[in-house]
Amino acid sequence: MENCLFCKIIAGEIPSKKVYEDENVYAFHDINPNAPIHVLVIPKVHIASIQEVTEENLSAVSAVLKVIPRIAKELGLAENGYRVITNCGEDGGQSVKHLHFHILGGKKLPVTLA
Ligand code: 5GP
Ligand code: ZN
Repeated sequence: MENCLFCKIIAGEIPSKKVYEDENVYAFHDINPNAPIHVLVIPKVHIASIQEVTEENLSAVSAVLKVIPRIAKELGLAENGYRVITNCGEDGGQSVKHLHFHILGGKKLPVTLA
């Protein structure tokens, strides 16, 4: 997808601090972390948001969900826990229109969501 920041990161056109990669999934450190550990996990195929998940692209999304626990473990978060967030659309605060799951952890996170 042209002009998509995360598609450019996947393509290596924009540098990122890679945490994990396989044929379907890419994970990297957030440039502006909101917690001691803040990683973004994305499907390699362009999906604009969770609102765009369909029967056809569900396998790409499940590939992302499948590796999140593994990535969290590698980051040392499995024992104490962590938070997974996907923001959607204007009210959800989504700033990059390529589906991404935030993994946040490394401290006790505030419970407030809104
Ligand atoms: P959103 O607000 O869409 O849920 O999350 C987008 C996230 O992408 C933000 O947490 C933001 O800090 C991160 N981000 C934006 N641009 C870049 C970038 O160029 N590199 C990296 N690693 N993260 C980025
Ligand atoms: Zn994209």
